[in-house]
Amino acid sequence: MRKLVIAIDGPVGSGKSTAARRVAELLGYTYIDTGAMYRAVALKALRRKLSLDATEELVMLAGASRIDLRAQDGGQNVMLDGEDVTKEIRTPEVSQASSKIAVIEGVRRVLVAEQRRAGANGGVVMEGRDIGSVVFPEAELKIFLTASDETRAQRRWREHQQKGDAIDLARTLEEIRERDRRDAGREHSPLFRAEGAVLVDSTAMEAEEVARLIAMLARETIGNQTGQTVR
Ligand code: C5P
Repeated sequence: MRKLVIAIDGPVGSGKSTAARRVAELLGYTYIDTGAMYRAVALKALRRKLSLDATEELVMLAGASRIDLRAQDGGQNVMLDGEDVTKEIRTPEVSQASSKIAVIEGVRRVLVAEQRRAGANGGVVMEGRDIGSVVFPEAELKIFLTASDETRAQRRWREHQQKGDAIDLARTLEEIRERDRRDAGREHSPLFRAEGAVLVDSTAMEAEEVARLIAMLARETIGNQTGQTVR
């Protein structure tokens, strides 16, 4: 039996990564963080001091980059042209730059092709902004994960605190709103709840609860396909 493609989309800090990683672990699937791919291209552009409006150069840069996502301790290591950039891609500067390059259609085309290849055989939990709408509109299970702006800002702020990054909560809230506006307002593949996506509001939920809910929906989907009860 073919394993599912599970698409998880949602705004910054909605809990996609934590949920997707855990769902993959619960089901024995592969976790794919597509945001890391946009971040890797953005990091390369920043290092080369390319203008983030230089469309043609950025499309070429994306096409000439080798991005490998390697499963590691239940998480994922991000390799850019053979270099481990897992930590470098998580700075606020790269976050903003990634959403700026993500508006470019040609950059998206390159990365979406990679993502489709990665999920072609199913058995993946893929998270991003356009997975259920563009990358895998035929995904067997689609989730649109959200949470209040304040909750999302607090989650992101706590992550920065844990890493020792000095950034205040008000600034974090401002940054996630700016990124959400850009991601939801862009012309190509904007963030929205795809047709058939189950809306999950994680504001008052623990991460584990979110993951178990999604894993339960996945088992139900498999059960509906096979006519069996899957535990
Ligand atoms: O998910 P994450 O916050 O790491 O993604 C970084 C940026 O990459 C997002 O703000 C968004 O602009 C872009 N992105 C996207 N499509 C995806 C995943 C991420 O446009 N599927």
